[in-house]
Amino acid sequence: MIQDMSLLEIARRIEAIQHRLTQLGPMHPGSLGEQYNVCGKAGCRCKDPQKPQKHGPYYQLSFTWRGKSTTRFVRTQHVTEMRQRIARYKRFRELVNAWVDLEIARERAERVKGKRAGGN
Ligand SMILES: [Zn+2]
Repeated sequence: MIQDMSLLEIARRIEAIQHRLTQLGPMHPGSLGEQYNVCGKAGCRCKDPQKPQKHGPYYQLSFTWRGKSTTRFVRTQHVTEMRQRIARYKRFRELVNAWVDLEIARERAERVKGKRAGGN
């Protein structure tokens, strides 16, 4: 009975994860970095000897996907949306990892119960 309960609980948790995955919305891998620049114009505020005010921030998105590293600028008006997508991607990965944990637990529980053909 305890094994049955365990399998039911595992299945219930997997269903909850699957449901949350369908609710995630747009996502994007990576992280955002801020960058401040000094320009080439003589007498620009970015080169003020007393109080230099560098240009920026400029936002850079960096990510590696399928072995390829990419870094590109993100317009200021798109930064909030990109932060949300990055946060969703992190949740996505956490949910997928939790799902796989549960699948490993399910297989183990099934094997213990003798349900699976060829189990030992
Ligand atoms: Zn400047």
